[in-house]
Amino acid sequence: MKLTTEQWLHEAWRLLTPLVEGAIASSFPHSPGDTAELFPEPTKIQLSVGYWPNIPRKEQPLGYCADPTDCKDGETYTVFISPELAGDHRHTTLVLATLAHEMIHAWITNGHGHNRRFQMVAHELGFRKSYTCVSLKTTSPKLLRELRRIGKKLGPCPWKPLKP
Ligand SMILES: [Zn+2]
Repeated sequence: MKLTTEQWLHEAWRLLTPLVEGAIASSFPHSPGDTAELFPEPTKIQLSVGYWPNIPRKEQPLGYCADPTDCKDGETYTVFISPELAGDHRHTTLVLATLAHEMIHAWITNGHGHNRRFQMVAHELGFRKSYTCVSLKTTSPKLLRELRRIGKKLGPCPWKPLKP
């Protein structure tokens, strides 16, 4: 079955979930039983491709995670992947790395900031400094292997990337 862009992103989220959950669990080893309770998987999510408003086009991030207060229902996280990056098949690994970064925001920081907690989980997952912007140069070989494996499983994202 051919996936739509949004289905592709949701499937990517599903495949990335064990990695993010694992990183969260080992970041807080003192409370293994409570980790899932402290940081439950955000279930109300909408994933799409787009520019985030109020950011000049040249400064648009690769991805964006809006906290639930941005949503009219007050409960749903919105994640956007850059329309220039999504669907660019040379950059599927970077798209997945970006989505994983946004997942940490949704899980850990309520959509905001790169605080210590965020950095702990990001490091555990395989990201290295700077934690604020995603780059494959600061992604561990182990995580890169996982992202490539997931990218192969997913196949191409159907989005047609926009010109920068
Ligand atoms: Zn971030």
